[in-house]
Amino acid sequence: MPALILDGTRIAQEIRGEVAAEVKTMAAAGVRPGLAVVLVGHNPASEIYVRGKVKACQALGIYSETLTPPASVSTEELLALVAKLNARSEIAGILVQLPLPPRVDTRRVLIAVEPEKDVDGFHPCNVGRLVAGMPGPRACTPAGILELLKRYQIPIAGRRAVVVGRSDIVGKPVALLLLHEHATVTICHSKTPDLPAVCREADILVAAIGRAAMLTADYLKPGATVIDVGMNRVDNRQEAARIFRDAPEKLASFDQRGSVLVGDVEPRAVEEIASAYTPVPGGVGPLTIAMLMVNTVASAERRAGLC
Ligand code: NDP
Repeated sequence: MPALILDGTRIAQEIRGEVAAEVKTMAAAGVRPGLAVVLVGHNPASEIYVRGKVKACQALGIYSETLTPPASVSTEELLALVAKLNARSEIAGILVQLPLPPRVDTRRVLIAVEPEKDVDGFHPCNVGRLVAGMPGPRACTPAGILELLKRYQIPIAGRRAVVVGRSDIVGKPVALLLLHEHATVTICHSKTPDLPAVCREADILVAAIGRAAMLTADYLKPGATVIDVGMNRVDNRQEAARIFRDAPEKLASFDQRGSVLVGDVEPRAVEEIASAYTPVPGGVGPLTIAMLMVNTVASAERRAGLC
């Protein structure tokens, strides 16, 4: 049987439809959720991400505003900006787009965001709530992964889950969310010995590494569910041809754009070995923004005493 493609674009649309309906209900109660995005300097990737977030807000009836301090901004100036946003009642969510310039103290800025307005779920208070299994905003990409698994009714309880990557924004929170759903979870990283053998134990394998097609057939258990978080741009045609085994549509896309997006898992191997997998693009990516919208609306509801 061919592997099931876990269609993140479709699930994200479903979630966005639910958020839009919620926003309408809130409007009837006189509440409009508001999101403030802080975008420092001119990082092209960050600008694209922020544009996507603002567009999603517009489509769903969420108020948004983007603040764009220059790359020369100091930590103190950013802290003052965040304090102003914390104080504004119409702003339910504050998102500081990362990465910040190296001279800025990122940790101090993230901690300055009011935990109730921390729609990224990065504040230590909210990380603590996640660890303790208490309600609170969850990091958007991990929350999206759980939503995808649940909506496709992929069983989690009692299964072996292996997460490759231990970042604060993906690896650690997704491992905790899987643990709370009663999976037996192993977290791997660059110092894990015999990674292929550990990965081959996974009924659910989450790859959050940032290395194009690193997990090959050797890392996959037949019938596993594979969640590929990686988003790697490959701009070498030979490399792209090798990864996609000369698939004509991928090479045509490469020739058009001069690069191609590749996950952390070898695409042809996962199609052949897994029972279900997220494609790249169109898997985990679209869910991240959808869950940001969910977190923003939830924050506005809590602030308005609607839930
Ligand atoms: P980080 O760079 O913060 O973390 C990468 C992790 O992978 C680290 O824990 C690192 O281990 C581990 N790692 C690196 N090389 C190896 C290796 N050879 N073997 C085993 N483990 C390894 O990345 P992020 O978590 O921020 O992102 C991971 C990927 O997910 C990226 O491609 C990113 O673009 C993508 N991403 C996609 C999102 C989406 O919406 N689709 C959202 C966020 C990220 P160690 O800790 O030992 O260094």
